[in-house]
Amino acid sequence: MDDDLKKFVGSHEERLLQAALSSSRLKTDLINIVIKSCNVLKPVLFTHADVVLELMNQCDKEFDKDQEGSELTALKISFEKVFSMDILKMLSASGVGDVDDEVKPAVLAIMNYLHNIEYHQNAIYSVKRKGGDTASVTAVMAHHLFSQLIPGNKYWINNRSRNLPNVCPCQQPNCGKEIKAGCTALGSGETWHGYVDILINDTIAVSVMKDSEGTSDDVNPGPSAQKQLRRCSSSVSQYKEDPRERHSRDCLLKMNVIDQLIAETITNAFSQMNLTKSLTGWPIPTIGCTVDQRLN
Ligand SMILES: [Zn+2]
Repeated sequence: MDDDLKKFVGSHEERLLQAALSSSRLKTDLINIVIKSCNVLKPVLFTHADVVLELMNQCDKEFDKDQEGSELTALKISFEKVFSMDILKMLSASGVGDVDDEVKPAVLAIMNYLHNIEYHQNAIYSVKRKGGDTASVTAVMAHHLFSQLIPGNKYWINNRSRNLPNVCPCQQPNCGKEIKAGCTALGSGETWHGYVDILINDTIAVSVMKDSEGTSDDVNPGPSAQKQLRRCSSSVSQYKEDPRERHSRDCLLKMNVIDQLIAETITNAFSQMNLTKSLTGWPIPTIGCTVDQRLN
């Protein structure tokens, strides 16, 4: 492990990581939201979840008083208040040559990914260019993106998926690797439940959306037009973007897709903490993505 990581000291990959960690994107504030109502008490699939959100300062005027003198406000929390920055600051300042033993496997995984990033990106975009179906896109993203970012590369794709290939469909040199499928069930039949597309390291849930997914309420019931109007007026959907990516981004910001991801996130967090008590208090990400975009 030490030798594997030390070969990246002073490398192009180390400089890429340091540049990313120094990016202002890490200073992004998080919006504080609460669930006003939802259908969690009904036996519905994640794809039929219905969640009404409000910004915290719209529903709890007392919150600011409780946090007087703190940088925490009712509306937003700075990134640094939620996530420990110690490791990131150390990597940004000193590189990968002197990291603690417990984070070495994670840092090595990132270094190896950056070393092979062109290979992995070509694999993903080759399937996109060929117009691969959702099963092919899910397979190539599980193998060439998500599993590459964790030590051990452990993942399962939902084994109930139709047309799931046995080997990676990217046709890159030296690939054709086995695609790993297994049970990705989450939740219980009495409440929100369903199968996520990928489980990474038995912990992180991923839903892979087609670019066109979520555009028809007939196919995938979501909130009412009134609810969508209300949500779209919030700051959540206000951002600048590359027009070429708008279609993909719009897909992820469809309200029924967001409702699905919220339901999966809450259910997965409860499941993981019930299984592993040491995860209590830690943020457990659930990811929604298309080939081009990602929403945590
Ligand atoms: Zn491949």
